[in-house]
Amino acid sequence: MLGPKGELLYVGKSVRLRSRLLSYFRSGVRGRTADLVRLTRNITWELLPDEFGTLLREMRLIRTHRPPFNVRHKRETAAIYLELTREAAPRLRRVRGPSPRSGTLFGPYPPSVLSDDALRDLVHTAGLRDCPATTPVEFADQLPLLPPARTRPLCIRGELNSCPAPCAGGCDEEDYRRRVKAVENLLRGLETLPLHPLRTRMKRAAEEENFELAATHRDRLERIQELTAQLHALADELERLDFLYLPDSWGSSPRLYLVRRGAVVMSEQLPEGREAWKACRKGLRGALSRPRPHPSSMDADTGAEVLLTASWFRNRPQELHRTTDPVAWLAEGSGLSPLPAPASR
Ligand code: SF4
Repeated sequence: MLGPKGELLYVGKSVRLRSRLLSYFRSGVRGRTADLVRLTRNITWELLPDEFGTLLREMRLIRTHRPPFNVRHKRETAAIYLELTREAAPRLRRVRGPSPRSGTLFGPYPPSVLSDDALRDLVHTAGLRDCPATTPVEFADQLPLLPPARTRPLCIRGELNSCPAPCAGGCDEEDYRRRVKAVENLLRGLETLPLHPLRTRMKRAAEEENFELAATHRDRLERIQELTAQLHALADELERLDFLYLPDSWGSSPRLYLVRRGAVVMSEQLPEGREAWKACRKGLRGALSRPRPHPSSMDADTGAEVLLTASWFRNRPQELHRTTDPVAWLAEGSGLSPLPAPASR
């Protein structure tokens, strides 16, 4: 829906466009819808062959043009990433996407999974520091010959043993690196965090009859177990979102989508005729020869698309029957249901 100067006011999608538009113009509409109708001078539409492509197109238009009457998909923080910073003693922090100084990135994640509390639990359990980048780091095995600048941690976390205090020679570099590696393995879906230090603290608090502290440790333990399960499921889900997808089409001109690690890296009309198939195969081979999308090369928009694709297949597992391995499909030169043969003969 376009305004007086042709500016985009609102983007929507519908399988019944006529009734959807009539609902906007029906007398009695109030609030934002009434404002939208009052400002609209023109309506333009495009016909798309399937619901998946329609969702993607809608999201891309909204994120590019930011129409004032759209709410969904507009937030910058539609997807977030976790970064292990590139520092002597790396920190784990949330970021919106890669930057030239990025360390190792993981994700994308829905913001709801990684609240402030969840991130704090993770950092405290893993024993990573969360102080500013400017905090001086002095590992135990790197202390100068002269007496160390400081022997007491710079914050309470060091006193409480939730941080090994690399700011005051509280640990050596290898010990800190081990902790970073454990977080890296967790975020890759390979391992869980070692939870025995937290269990020991909980047990000790209970033995000392400090039941409030024991309950705090127990709650954190439960939260971290839940978060670990979620992070593993997400990592696993993204790894599996790698296929060629032919969704059911509403009319003619169905589209093929090449999905790699959740990102739609190629989308084109299902070819008709030998030459079109040849071009399609060439395009597919080219797309497959490029590296799989990685968080370090994804911007906020791609991250949002990956989450959209993940939620599409999570909510419609039957759609996975319409996917196939693109490498095998190209190599075999035969139709793998539901895709037709790639016309290699
Ligand atoms: S104890 Fe030292 S290294 Fe750890 S968070 Fe506090 S200031 Fe940072």
